[in-house]
Amino acid sequence: MAVTAFTYAPAPERVRPKIRERYGLFINGAWTAPNSERYFETINPADETVLAQVAYAEAQDVDRAVRAARKGFERWSKLKPADRAKLIYRIARTITERSRELAVLESMNGGKPIRESRDFDIPEAGAHFFYHAGWADKLEWALRAGEMPAPIGVCGQIVPWNFPLLMAAWKLAPALACGNSVVLKPAETTPLTALALAQIIEEADLPAGVVNIVTGDGATGAALVDNDGIDKIAFTGSTDVGKVIQRRLAGKGKRITLELGGKAANVIFADAPLDQAVEGIVQGIYFNQGHVCCAGSRLLVEESVHDDIVARLTSRIRTLRLGDPLDKNTDIGAINSRVQLEKIHELVRSGIEQGATFVQAECELPARGFFFPASFFTNVHPSHRIAREEIFGPVLSIMTFRTPDEAIEKANNTPYGLSAGIWTAEGSKNMWIAQHLRAGVVWCNTFNKFDPSSPFGGYKESGFGREGGVHGLHEYLA
Ligand code: ADP
Repeated sequence: MAVTAFTYAPAPERVRPKIRERYGLFINGAWTAPNSERYFETINPADETVLAQVAYAEAQDVDRAVRAARKGFERWSKLKPADRAKLIYRIARTITERSRELAVLESMNGGKPIRESRDFDIPEAGAHFFYHAGWADKLEWALRAGEMPAPIGVCGQIVPWNFPLLMAAWKLAPALACGNSVVLKPAETTPLTALALAQIIEEADLPAGVVNIVTGDGATGAALVDNDGIDKIAFTGSTDVGKVIQRRLAGKGKRITLELGGKAANVIFADAPLDQAVEGIVQGIYFNQGHVCCAGSRLLVEESVHDDIVARLTSRIRTLRLGDPLDKNTDIGAINSRVQLEKIHELVRSGIEQGATFVQAECELPARGFFFPASFFTNVHPSHRIAREEIFGPVLSIMTFRTPDEAIEKANNTPYGLSAGIWTAEGSKNMWIAQHLRAGVVWCNTFNKFDPSSPFGGYKESGFGREGGVHGLHEYLA
């Protein structure tokens, strides 16, 4: 079924960030050419134009970065914690000062609506550096009363394309606060804000080699994982790659944290304030085009309000504006890549073939770029692929339940365990359900809310280890 969407007058963002024609690798505090002299194009997924050429790092380049990070670690770990804090604060302040330019760059390279990069990604990235800068000189007494906790050493950090700068901040800020050095590998489709961060780090005058940024693809990431010079791997990405990384590191005695996929249940009880719940559903699945590992991608609705919720959601998705990510009115921006768009189409086809009912906001798609309108499925069976696999797009799978026990059973019926949401007016029910959900984060009467002081991470095939808060600091201390 197709529902016609409204149209709106455009309001495009006019700031344009400075983008270099070509980016080298950021190793030992300097920009260097890759050994192979190979560069790859990075594009704007909203119009498929080329934004820049980016260096492709091979194993030899990664090894150079790891060696630089070893020297950087010697320098950084010997600094007084308060001096480390000052430098991390400097990064935080510069991110905040340049937030508009960074937001535009993030939206241009990744396709997310400017409203989200402006109001969420970039401020949160700054907040992570501020928060962890504050910890740098307090670890000794706050964590282990009088005993100075030791850093781990050289950390290899691999991040995905859905929140490029924010994921880099989640990884870098705690590692640096705890005295570690880093080799960071951004995702192949979204390297530009990490490279802008490299420029900020260069200007902040961190000792050479403390942060090294190597761009490339999965093979570059694999070279980092396989490099014997690293002491820890922190990875955010797909469960498949997480499993490969865990296997490759088995028995090597390295520290690992993995933040992987999800198929979160967003559970709506009949007594919930339904207008708010519908906003929570929208926030849960259509935020960042559903490119969110903790997205509320399985909606579990108490049977008695199913039709009401579906009717409200049908009319709500008509008001979501799809289009230019740099337009401040846009709710649904571009899908990050052609490959991801094809994956979404493939899973949607499987949902239709397996007998679920597809509802989509009908709207004109831009002539170029990768787009997919806000959609949902009803009549979904728990065995359908769309109920089990991560779609990582603006597509929701709706199922029903009759009792709280059935809601818990269905919510936990997934190999994943990253997040969940509960909507009910009854406080005790909220708490009771939350205790029984096997998910690292449970939001009550809200969804997709984050804070640097709050730990984030998964159970089961969603990975292990926590990022953020005090828990996240322990992941970077020996
Ligand atoms: P997605 O499926 O969301 O693109 P991936 O798990 O493929 O997520 O990618 C997340 C990050 O992991 C990216 O930076 C990617 O380059 C990197 N990567 C992909 N394959 C490997 C691998 N075998 N080893 C290490 N890193 C990898």
